[in-house]
Amino acid sequence: MHARMAKRLAQTPPSQRGLFNRVYAGWATQRQCIRAMCLECLGFDKDGIRNCTAPECPLYRFRPYQK
Ligand code: SF4
Repeated sequence: MHARMAKRLAQTPPSQRGLFNRVYAGWATQRQCIRAMCLECLGFDKDGIRNCTAPECPLYRFRPYQK
């Protein structure tokens, strides 16, 4: 694993490390990769992702945790 990946994993909440391990190993689906990106973007705040205020983001329509 690349050193930057290991550093980022160490900063990832334990509940999300499985997801990021799959992403870094290349086993994650596109949907899981998007979830990982959004979680990182908003500091692992699921409500923040649901209420994301950046419709200009290319991932906006695909972000997780929408109702
Ligand atoms: S959709 Fe929102 S939370 Fe997801 S990456 Fe884009 S700006 Fe960040």
